[in-house]
Amino acid sequence: MKAIAIEPGTTNTRLIDSAEPSLSSPYEVKVRMLEVGICGTDREEALGGRADPPEHSRHLIIGHEMFGQVLEVGSEVSKVKEGDFAVFTVRRGCNECVPCQNGRSDMCRTGRYKERGIKELHGFETEYVVDHEDYIVKVPVSIRSVGVLTEPMSVAAKAIDEALTLQAARLPEAKYEDWLKGKKALVAGVGAIGLLAAFALRLRGAEVVGLDIVDEDSRRPQILQQIGGSYIDGRQIKTTDIDEQYGEFDFIFEATGVASLSFELIDVLGRNGIYVMTGIPGGDRPVCFQGADTMKQMVLKNQIILGSVNASTRHFAMAISDLEKSKNKYGNLIDSLITTRVSYNDFMDALSLRSEEDIKTVIEWGEKEPEKSL
Ligand SMILES: [Zn+2]
Ligand SMILES: [Zn+2]
Repeated sequence: MKAIAIEPGTTNTRLIDSAEPSLSSPYEVKVRMLEVGICGTDREEALGGRADPPEHSRHLIIGHEMFGQVLEVGSEVSKVKEGDFAVFTVRRGCNECVPCQNGRSDMCRTGRYKERGIKELHGFETEYVVDHEDYIVKVPVSIRSVGVLTEPMSVAAKAIDEALTLQAARLPEAKYEDWLKGKKALVAGVGAIGLLAAFALRLRGAEVVGLDIVDEDSRRPQILQQIGGSYIDGRQIKTTDIDEQYGEFDFIFEATGVASLSFELIDVLGRNGIYVMTGIPGGDRPVCFQGADTMKQMVLKNQIILGSVNASTRHFAMAISDLEKSKNKYGNLIDSLITTRVSYNDFMDALSLRSEEDIKTVIEWGEKEPEKSL
């Protein structure tokens, strides 16, 4: 079968022939790939950045944002059946720590987890994959067209879940289900993750303001406005003046990976506010910000700043529910986040394609029924 592989640390990306996997235990599921989304992680890997091949392999099959159809299930599998649409999660636990032993490898304590398509396990940019049913999440037919957005939505879902859990635990008036209702949320970076977070925040009743550095009439701010959000062009206003014009924010969702901006944004967080960072900076340039003022503000205003990465199967289920609700509330607007679909043969286009209007590029592995081998 075909697969897109890199040689970690090099820019050598190519289509390879790889052995088709088959079920090796009654608890495994074989999935035929339909679509796999491309994100910054894949592009960084293809440029020679952070990625580790499996043991005894020089290459790594990339891809972690998958969507496929179940082809075959082992005799003990109960979560899915043949023909179901489904996604596999990305991370596989270390099996040594308590979070990993409890299905929460997203909170792994040892760091010895593996990730499909990123760290020591082959990914999903290929025709067929097999994995344990513990890692599969069924996708309803109603959101088939956006099933490939499940993994990036799960990252937003976890970040929001973490914030709501913490606020509900510490604030006397906060309830997990409706703390965001009427609250002011700032989404920094209106790319795929930021827009998905904006949908999830609007579904929970928040007032959403997006911050980016593109023209207001371009595609991403337009989508934000169509779900009732408003947009700030970061080139037109000093970050620390945002609160003077828009008021302070109860919640900040950071998805830029730009360290200088992200630390400056603490300034616009309000009393008892919570700020979740999800971006991963590419460089290591030192950042200069008003440390004493920031610390004073965080203490005097009871603020939380937290980082959030990856997602558990529960967050994948939340993501699916949010995608369904988005479909119901905003129709096909959520589909417009997928801006480009290319065949796996044109994978280089997908890895390099990047215009201001591009939100999510998806590699197609097959829409047609699989050919029966003779
Ligand atoms: Zn990704
Ligand atoms: Zn662990």
